[in-house]
Amino acid sequence: MKKVLVIEDNRTILKLEQTKIESELHLEVTPCETLAAALAAIEKETFFCALVDLTLPDAKDLEVVQALDKYDIPMIVFTGSIDKKLREDVLKFNVMDYILKDNPSSLDYALRIIRFLDNSEGCSLLVVDDSATSRMGLVMSLERLHMNVYQASNGDEALDIIKNHDDIMMMITDNFMPGMDGDELVRKVRAKKSINDFGIIGVSGSSDHEITLGFLKSGANDFIQKPIYPEELFTRVVSNIEMIHNIKIAKESATRDYLTQLHNRMYLFELGDKYYENAKRRHLNLVVAMLDIDHFKKINDRYGHHAGDVALKEVAQVLLDNVRGTDVVARYGGEEFCIVLSNTSLADGLKVLDKIRVKISEIKIKLKTIEFSFTMSIGATDKLVGSLDKMIDHADKGLYQAKDEGRDRVVAI
Ligand code: GH3
Ligand code: MG
Ligand code: MG
Repeated sequence: MKKVLVIEDNRTILKLEQTKIESELHLEVTPCETLAAALAAIEKETFFCALVDLTLPDAKDLEVVQALDKYDIPMIVFTGSIDKKLREDVLKFNVMDYILKDNPSSLDYALRIIRFLDNSEGCSLLVVDDSATSRMGLVMSLERLHMNVYQASNGDEALDIIKNHDDIMMMITDNFMPGMDGDELVRKVRAKKSINDFGIIGVSGSSDHEITLGFLKSGANDFIQKPIYPEELFTRVVSNIEMIHNIKIAKESATRDYLTQLHNRMYLFELGDKYYENAKRRHLNLVVAMLDIDHFKKINDRYGHHAGDVALKEVAQVLLDNVRGTDVVARYGGEEFCIVLSNTSLADGLKVLDKIRVKISEIKIKLKTIEFSFTMSIGATDKLVGSLDKMIDHADKGLYQAKDEGRDRVVAI
């Protein structure tokens, strides 16, 4: 798990910072009350960022950022000091942002910056401007984001770079450029990249509202007027990337089961139907299996609903660990799962399914005072009987036969 170094001498604030980062961002925190403790922690552990207070028992002013700057850890300064000169000096170091501890929401803002660092890791930005000076200005302002930045001097070059680099999740483009202008570039990018997963910020020196509107109507998410203030660019990039990330999470949660994080039935049919059509058209093998935990009701009755939930999560993990990344594993309902093995013969599929059956029977759920095991019955088919839905019904017949014959077995039908 990624770790955040938090340096703060006020214990109450330190505790609050730690609790919020761990519960809201699911990152691990190493709390330190002094600079000396922080330096000792850095020698032992790797941190992906640091939230730092400036005034500590053993450091003041620039001393903390000076000391940490050597370690290439992005810092977020969280301080009570409103000294303008100090702020300017601090921002010359490897500091993402200087946040004042002056109201209850300032810690939430600090958390947003940490989340941004976490979400944007491995993602890149593209800056498009025909003027080398403006481009360099933008690139320098973006340095503090710790993101990889590509550059293009015209629209065609930009389209080419975007086509060849999947890691680019955002473009910042000027408007007046020879050849293709910013507007046209935005329209061309939008023909390929949706507003939900690719951010665009338009930039222009003109104060003409038509330009702002042109950008936005062509599909830009945002607009910034030149001269660009690095802080403004920074916060707009952060909030645009945040939005893209939130949409991604929302999309993901619509296709996943909350408890097991496996795909849900809706996604199973969405993707499974494609697998079925593909297998039918190209005469490929396809195995569909239905899996159901044996006597699951007794587990709930004997050990409680929570124990049942833990068992479901363990089953999900075994299923995922034993199929290929291209196979579909879904929670079909309650304690019933469905697996679609693409490009697999029935003989090979049965080997995989029997391995899964054995692994499930080896799971031992251990909770405080209880310990239990369980088994699973499986029905499988490779008969392309008309649709994925019909294959599932057919595999279900195998499952019922497995239950009838004594459970804890795989029946091919
Ligand atoms: P069989 O061997 O014939 O499959 O018997 P069974 O007891 O497994 O099957 P039954 O359909 O009678 O019971 C399924 C139980 O699964 C009943 C239901 O309360 C429980 N269940 C469904 N969803 C969940 C869940 O999300 N969590 C927990 N803990 N239990 C669930
Ligand atoms: Mg302090
Ligand atoms: Mg059952």
